[in-house]
Amino acid sequence: MPHSEDDVMRLHFEVTHTAPETNARRGMMTLRHGLVETPVFMPVGTQGSIKSLSSEDVRDELRAQIILANTYHLLLRMGTERLKKNGGLHRFMRWDGNLLTDSGGFQVFSLGQGSTQGKPLLEKLDEAGAHFRSHLDGARHLLSPEKSIEVQEAIGSDIMMVLDECPPSTAAREYQLRSMDRTTRWADRCLTARTDAGGALFAIGQGGLDLELRDKHMEELRTRPFEGFAIGGLAVGESKPDFLRTLRYTAPRYPADKPRYLMGVGTPDDLVEGVHAGVDMFDCVMPTRNARNGTLFVDGGKKLIIKNQSHLDDERPLDESCPCLTCRNYSRAYLRHLYMAEEIAFYRFATLHNLTHYLELMRKMREQITAGTFAAWRLEYYARKEQSPPS
Ligand SMILES: [Zn+2]
Repeated sequence: MPHSEDDVMRLHFEVTHTAPETNARRGMMTLRHGLVETPVFMPVGTQGSIKSLSSEDVRDELRAQIILANTYHLLLRMGTERLKKNGGLHRFMRWDGNLLTDSGGFQVFSLGQGSTQGKPLLEKLDEAGAHFRSHLDGARHLLSPEKSIEVQEAIGSDIMMVLDECPPSTAAREYQLRSMDRTTRWADRCLTARTDAGGALFAIGQGGLDLELRDKHMEELRTRPFEGFAIGGLAVGESKPDFLRTLRYTAPRYPADKPRYLMGVGTPDDLVEGVHAGVDMFDCVMPTRNARNGTLFVDGGKKLIIKNQSHLDDERPLDESCPCLTCRNYSRAYLRHLYMAEEIAFYRFATLHNLTHYLELMRKMREQITAGTFAAWRLEYYARKEQSPPS
């Protein structure tokens, strides 16, 4: 008997708690590799590894329920056939939690600004997709909606993203409109290309900083059978007030019964503001990249620069209240020593700490939503940092 769409369990989402005086909400998202409690921050494992960590670290120390991998890098380094030969990325990297993959488009557009032998890497963008050359060996590729889904299915992704065209948030209205329409056509092609073996598929709403365009695009996308929706084209260079205005308008107008994902965001403050606006999912390289640069998040989102002289003889942990492996065992003085000596172990200790800081922040916010006290907690969060909350 042919399978109907309903036979395939990809995603089940339920909002379990809301809180007064905020759009923050708590939920349970069940995917093919188990439960994800939302709002959630997803650590980024670009090439099938969260830099410096093992999959055991991610499972046992961080207890992450979902991580992100980048389609562009896995396509160029491995290709569809080798991914399949290794049984998909879960089996390859021994990760039995959930995986979300991006479409590959963002890297094609951002790395496409580079060049090979004097020619730009992104050669042409047309209705078929993005024609580009690999930043590794210069080989020609076409990233089409169909190709993106093929690679994401070969990875075995639990949440796949549609290929979208992401113009600068400050681009002219005409450009935004054309790019929105193309993004919708590409999203439809991704839906058609998905097989029964494919995971959940999220569409991406565009519209830049134009709130009317944001509404218009979501009116089109919400009629289609996507399992979730992302807010695209934000945190791409606009000012903080523009970012917050667009976020606060857009997130609560997304379908209430589907997960909402703010891509590529952000700082601890951005996560607090995103949750306040009603976002359920986040990802960002900030905690992992900053860890490797020696910038550690402590005490309600403040930054500790490990190379500073003041840590030379400091026997305290990075953060007294942090439950991570690093803070349970090692002093600031030892971590500073490892950093200054460029010891590889520093990367793992720092990455475990920063990701724990982010995941603990999300856990606290989920607790506050359940207790109905999120709005007051948000004000205290800024008061502790001696900042006023962003207006
Ligand atoms: Zn820690």
